[in-house]
Amino acid sequence: MAIDATRPYDDQNIFAKILRGEIPSTRIYEDEWAYAFPDINPQAPLHILVIPKGAYVSWDDFSAAAPAEEIAGFIRAVGHVAREHGLVEPGYRLLANIGGHGGQEVPHLHVHLFGGQLLGPMIV
Ligand code: IMP
Repeated sequence: MAIDATRPYDDQNIFAKILRGEIPSTRIYEDEWAYAFPDINPQAPLHILVIPKGAYVSWDDFSAAAPAEEIAGFIRAVGHVAREHGLVEPGYRLLANIGGHGGQEVPHLHVHLFGGQLLGPMIV
């Protein structure tokens, strides 16, 4: 069930538990600002989730409230993961679902990184 992106941050959400190591995940990349791991239900040959280490429900509170340094660090981490996987050429896709209409299921901001094949047209 999709979540309401205006709700307060719930530190018991599954990605918070992954960040704390309470739920296992395979670390693809980690730095001061971000953590990247494979999506458990991949929708492309490469489907990576990149999450900020800070407690943000969605792009909404992140973009409104996070310090500029944290925003820059997170965005740089996403780009780094793509480059490290050789995705810049041929290309890749980033997606962030936000709130109910966005179909967001997990209430901790995450960017989906898809690659490894020619991706179809965006279907809204
Ligand atoms: P959302 O719809 O953008 O919130 O996507 C949540 C994503 O998290 C989905 O693509 C799920 O497959 C993925 N997911 C849920 N639980 C786990 C997990 O424990 N490990 C990795 N990915 C997960």
